[in-house]
Amino acid sequence: MASIFTRIIEGEIPGSFILKQERWVAFLDINPVSPGHILLVPRQEVALLPELDGASLAETGAWLARLDCALRQVTGCAAVSVLLRDGPVAGQEVPHLHWHLIPRHSGDRAHHFASGSYASDEERERMRAALQAALDRVQG
Ligand code: AMP
Repeated sequence: MASIFTRIIEGEIPGSFILKQERWVAFLDINPVSPGHILLVPRQEVALLPELDGASLAETGAWLARLDCALRQVTGCAAVSVLLRDGPVAGQEVPHLHWHLIPRHSGDRAHHFASGSYASDEERERMRAALQAALDRVQG
C-alpha cells in the first residue's frame, strides 16, 4: 500500500505544496512544531536514506539549503532545525523518507518538538503561498 506521502504526492490526499520537482516535493507539515514547518519528501517511496536512488540523493543538499533560505525569509526565524528520523527507533512514524525543516525562534523551546496546528486553513494557505514565492526567488 502506498505511503501517506505518496498519496499526497499523487493528489489522493490534500497537501499544502511549496515545491513539486522531478524527484522531490515539499509541503507543510499538518501539525507544525512552529508555523512554516516543512517536509521535504522524495517522490521515490523508500523508508531510509541509504535506500534512496543516487540522483535524488545528489539533489538533497541543494533543496534543503533553498528551503532553509525561504523559511528564514518568510518567518524571520533565527534558526532552522533540519531533522531526519531515519528509522522507527529514531522516532520515524511515516515510513517514507522525509526531512523536517522547522523554523526556530529565540526561547521557543521547540527542541521539544511538540506539534501544534494552524489557526485556520486560510492561515496555512498564506504560509504555503509565501514560502513558495520565497523559494521561487531563492532559485532565481
Ligand atoms: P516522522 O515522525 O518523522 O515520521 O514525521 C511524520 C510527520 O508527518 C509528522 O510531523 C506529521 O505531523 C506529518 N504528517 C502526517 N500526516 C500528514 C499529512 N497528511 N500532511 C502533512 N503532514 C503530515
